[in-house]
Amino acid sequence: MSHSDTDSDVSELDQRELSEAITSDKWAPQLGYCEEPETPLTADTYPSKSGGKPAWLNPEHILDVEQTTCGNCNEPMVLLLQLYTPEDEPAEAFHRAVYVFCCKNGGCHKQDWTQCFKVYRSQLPRENPYYPPPENEENEDDDVAIDFTPKQFTKPKECVICGVAGTKACGKCQTTYYCSRQHQMVDWNSCGHKLYCNTNDPNREKEETKLRSARLFSEMEIVSEPEGQGEDGKEEEEQKEHTKKESGEKSNETALALRGDEAYENTEVDVDQAFLKFQLKIGMYPDQVIRYERVEYDMPDREPLWVQQGQKPSLVPACDRCGGPRTFEFQILSTLLNYLGISHVADDSLDWGALYVYTCKHNCPTSPDVFVPEYLWKQDFSAEGMKF
Ligand SMILES: [Zn+2]
Ligand SMILES: [Zn+2]
Ligand SMILES: [Zn+2]
Ligand SMILES: [Zn+2]
Repeated sequence: MSHSDTDSDVSELDQRELSEAITSDKWAPQLGYCEEPETPLTADTYPSKSGGKPAWLNPEHILDVEQTTCGNCNEPMVLLLQLYTPEDEPAEAFHRAVYVFCCKNGGCHKQDWTQCFKVYRSQLPRENPYYPPPENEENEDDDVAIDFTPKQFTKPKECVICGVAGTKACGKCQTTYYCSRQHQMVDWNSCGHKLYCNTNDPNREKEETKLRSARLFSEMEIVSEPEGQGEDGKEEEEQKEHTKKESGEKSNETALALRGDEAYENTEVDVDQAFLKFQLKIGMYPDQVIRYERVEYDMPDREPLWVQQGQKPSLVPACDRCGGPRTFEFQILSTLLNYLGISHVADDSLDWGALYVYTCKHNCPTSPDVFVPEYLWKQDFSAEGMKF
């Protein structure tokens, strides 16, 4: 998930070292956790975050609402999360961000969930018109001062609700922009614009900001660390030991106990092995919200951590842009739902077991459209998967 020059070259390893590297999971996934942001998560900080408005990596070209409209209900979707995922190859992916949009209408997801998500990839090379190249440690002593002047351009108008291109202005004040008629109505009726349009009310900014952000998913910073490292590493070892002892039928019981006491009463259970593995992995770091698997460029393709044995994509479509393969990059866990500021109680609330994001393996160029659509698959927690 970051530029790194450590251990990325496997060509110097012999066969034994290579197999050891793989069994000890050298390419352990990066686990993402939600934290309250300490500073504003603006584009120039290259944030990974849930919710809020998109922080556009390319500040000059942003998505239009046609690209973020739900295929079921025709409402504009909102940002579920964005991850900053720079890669070493090709040079054009030096800065790289993946945006996931999601319809907030839970009922919609129950109709046809494939219409309720959109994923886009955006990239910029190290030398680009918007951001100075990061200082290179090796060149620190060079006399060459970095002389960077950012490009002057007209900043695109953003919808005050969702942050995609604001192509419509409020008819009265002409200074407030919206992506769509829907968001204009929302702002007028629910976010105080009816009251504050054309006023200098001292409470205006605070109130409008509060009411508008309530229409989005809560903004949280996503920080990451490799699975099995850091302070929690010890716990993982202990958990492994614990699991070894709890072999066979007994470990099934342990897993099932988490799903309700009634499971104990049925001894003839045929448990979904994928779900058991999932529970075990997640249980080690229960606060994780993201599992990021493409941690090094050109690492072997990874299998996601499936929530259940069924409901796997039969075919991940090739990249729309270059026709090359898409490979698994990261998954969004159901634990993220706890941070989004949404109700779990309502019948039509959002729900998923995990969301799996597949992206162009070769990070093909995103120009001239700036954004390349990518692929998302959803698995649910399944009662059938448990086969009671
Ligand atoms: Zn919808
Ligand atoms: Zn909007
Ligand atoms: Zn207005
Ligand atoms: Zn491609």
